[in-house]
Amino acid sequence: MTGIERRGLIVARHRREVVIEDTAGENWQGLIRGRDVRPLTGDEVVFRVEPDGTAVVDTLLPRRTVLERIDSRGRPEGVAANVSLLTIVVTSEPAPDWQLVDRYLVAAALMQIDAALVFNKCDLGDHALESPLAIYTKLGYRVCRTSVVAAQGLRELAVLLDKNRSVLLGQSGVGKSSLLNALLAVEAQAVRGLSSRRLLGRHTTSAAVLHRLPGGGELIDSPGVRRYAPVIADPAALPPGFLEFRPHLDACRFNDCRHLGDLGCAVQAAVERGEIEPQRYLSYVAMRRVLDRLAD
Ligand code: GDP
Ligand code: ZN
Repeated sequence: MTGIERRGLIVARHRREVVIEDTAGENWQGLIRGRDVRPLTGDEVVFRVEPDGTAVVDTLLPRRTVLERIDSRGRPEGVAANVSLLTIVVTSEPAPDWQLVDRYLVAAALMQIDAALVFNKCDLGDHALESPLAIYTKLGYRVCRTSVVAAQGLRELAVLLDKNRSVLLGQSGVGKSSLLNALLAVEAQAVRGLSSRRLLGRHTTSAAVLHRLPGGGELIDSPGVRRYAPVIADPAALPPGFLEFRPHLDACRFNDCRHLGDLGCAVQAAVERGEIEPQRYLSYVAMRRVLDRLAD
């Protein structure tokens, strides 16, 4: 039995259960059958409605991007599709892990999508983060300062997100849930919560849900998104992920320069001239060593 084919967007997924929003804005509860089609929240799909009303995903339309993490068995696992902006949240408490921040920024650069930083908990009045943040501003990344407690910077954050499909990333405790709740108008959240509860049963906390923000834009959130750690398979792909390395990469003496103290390395020379921040270079070295070890 086949029904008419429709196009839609996966707005929630939990294991094999999905909620699909069709092009008219109607939501359908659906199932993923078989192993060939593995849609993620954010995927555009072609689906069919069976006589019992169940929507079945037939085809995945091509993805622009996919966020992947390594699962417990060491295999890549998709967490969200077609994201256009990585929003990385940092705070003074817990203190930032700048190498983790750089890892997210590299992933965004390699996926050719945007990234921005959010300095949350500004109400704590700690200015120690301003000088490291200035490095990122200089590189062209937008930095937004917020406080959920003092209701500051939330409008600026909403503007940053309003034309994007984003995810909020960062260490546990930086305020990702608090920011998401503040961004979703209370009523909108209640309505959405209700419809996802109805459609996904008891799985609302483990599902990957695409939230529509009241000021425009979309935010995908799930436990998997929160554990997202970028997969960079090829160590040689890493250097251009550091935007400020790019102008120097062609000037290294050897094509296969690893920028780890190699002879005639233009990246290292730029670090010595003060054109590349030592903190960023050290992040590169740490990441590169891990990738080289994994590749061996
Ligand atoms: P998540 O783990 O990143 O989702 O962080 P949560 O949203 O659960 O927040 C962690 C803790 O930080 C909670 O106790 C929040 O109340 C607190 N918190 C969140 N935003 C702010 C803020 O802007 N200022 C302060 N002082 N605390 C905040
Ligand atoms: Zn080099």
